[in-house]
Amino acid sequence: MDPGRLAALIGEIEGLLCSIPDRIDRGLLEGARNLRVISQLAVGLDNLDLAACTELRIPVGHTPGVLTDTTADTAIALLLASVRRLPEGERLVRNGGWERWSSDLLLGADLHHSTVGIVGLGRIGSAIARRLRGFDCRLLYTGPNRKVSAEETLGVSYLQLPDLLRSADHVILSAPLRSETRQLIGRAELKLMKPTATLVNIARGPLIDPEALADALATGEIARAALDVTDPEPIPPDHRLVLMDNCLIIPHLGSASHATRKAMAQMAVDNLAAGLAGERLPACANPEVYDSS
Ligand code: NAP
Repeated sequence: MDPGRLAALIGEIEGLLCSIPDRIDRGLLEGARNLRVISQLAVGLDNLDLAACTELRIPVGHTPGVLTDTTADTAIALLLASVRRLPEGERLVRNGGWERWSSDLLLGADLHHSTVGIVGLGRIGSAIARRLRGFDCRLLYTGPNRKVSAEETLGVSYLQLPDLLRSADHVILSAPLRSETRQLIGRAELKLMKPTATLVNIARGPLIDPEALADALATGEIARAALDVTDPEPIPPDHRLVLMDNCLIIPHLGSASHATRKAMAQMAVDNLAAGLAGERLPACANPEVYDSS
């Protein structure tokens, strides 16, 4: 919905179904006199002010879990496509540039037996790790908390972010966008990575400083990037990153399978209906609103 139209309507509505492009900030919420529930069609909540919702005692629903496997599949697809240069190969064929088989045509890197660093070992990061075990990868992870049981079950090893960046052949971002993760990967972090490294972002665009990434890809500080999400979104077609052969970009398709989008829609509708009926949301991101104090 156009932001102006939403602002004009916000005082009247009792339930709001929103998603990633909708900016739900404190100013908007303060005018939401009748709002009893917000249902977000996504798991990430960075487009809305969750703290303000909690203060105003508005329960917020989201869609964790149902999109985990599809999004992890997308991360693996991006990583493989990027390291094996599939988009470049596809463009070569399509543009009539494929003349003959050649032993040095579009050589890439390997995923199998490589070291992969996962930044954010939550639901999606763990699903990515499970898949990468099938590629015989050595798995590293980082995050605010060590996950001892995951270390055993998934065979992942914990490192602080700088050490993970230094050690990994491929780095995958699967952490939420919050103030402390905004531009988590900037110039200093990119400098730590191997010149042969791949950076995959399946989380949210602003986790990466886009100008620093474009410079790192242009100077060979890292080898390639594969982005499901960008900053800004949509990214303009004349953006430096879009024009680079070693940067693969897709339009935020992480959870975009028929079955998963249907499951997300069902979950969002269930959250909305529960909120309107005055019931506890099945998937509530701020359960503190139900505390009696
Ligand atoms: P989740 O289960 O909450 O996992 C997030 C993980 O990130 C947690 O393990 C958390 O660690 C970790 N984390 C938090 N701050 C961090 C930091 N500063 N550095 C490193 N790790 C940090 O969430 P999820 O379901 O896996 O989803 C993760 C994110 O993916 C979502 O927030 C959303 O933005 C994005 N997403 C994107 C798509 C897409 O279409 N591309 C689809 C779905 C989700 P602790 O457990 O220690 O707190």
